Amino acid sequence: AISIRGLRKSFGTLNVLKNISLDVPRGSVVALIGPSGSGKSTLLRCINLLTVPDGGEIRVGGQALEFTGGADCLPGDKVLAGFRARTGMVFQHFNLFPHMTVLQNVMEGPVTVLKKPKAEAEATARKLLAKVGLSERCDMLPEKMSGGQKQRVAIARALAMEPSVMLFDEATSALDPELVAEVLGVIQSLAKEGMTMVLVTHEIAFAREVADQVVFMRDGVVVESGAPAQVIDHPQQEATRAFMGKMV
Ligand code: ATP
Ligand code: MG
Repeated sequence: AISIRGLRKSFGTLNVLKNISLDVPRGSVVALIGPSGSGKSTLLRCINLLTVPDGGEIRVGGQALEFTGGADCLPGDKVLAGFRARTGMVFQHFNLFPHMTVLQNVMEGPVTVLKKPKAEAEATARKLLAKVGLSERCDMLPEKMSGGQKQRVAIARALAMEPSVMLFDEATSALDPELVAEVLGVIQSLAKEGMTMVLVTHEIAFAREVADQVVFMRDGVVVESGAPAQVIDHPQQEATRAFMGKMV
């Protein structure tokens, strides 16, 4: 589960996140939607601590971190690394290691970071690659693969770190249209297995289908959140209505 209270982040004078609060119950899927520049990626990056918030609190699993502004408020590297490891992140551009095979890409984190024995890491990697439909591609280099295949490797690689939460930042927006479905299918099957997930997506139809909760952001605030049938189909706020009108 994730719980966020009063989260704030500025870049210089630009207030990108203004007092964001959000709950993602364990086993649930939250779809984060909103116009470009509304702060969706920044929010995901804060959950993962790729970006350090200026204020507020983030709780992932049992562990809470409070932010008070200075770098000195951060816990030590070890606590930070542990916190970060609770979330797996999948980006728009897959960021695979180009010189490693698919199997090596998925094994790398477990072996070097989690210190797993190689045989165990390999067995897990093969299992995960089977799960994303890539059993036959273990020995390929990423450059030989389609975007959809690369993104499925990236998902398997994130899962190999055994995160309690998965974060997806527009995981399908760099893909050719015909490759989107295979990646959404993998995300859908993770949802069915009860993985806790936050998805930033422009795929409104997919959000309606897979999300338990839809959160609409604009200008660094949560304008409206609730069940897909409410936020997507019967938005209460004018800003949400205007956005949905443009999407469909
Ligand atoms: P998009 O749909 O285009 O991906 P977004 O909702 O993900 O948009 P963010 O990437 O979170 O938006 O950006 C929110 C605002 O913060 C933008 O105005 C962006 O220019 C600014 N911003 C993000 N990261 C930084 C940074 N590292 N330094 C300065 N400004 C930044
Ligand atoms: Mg973004």
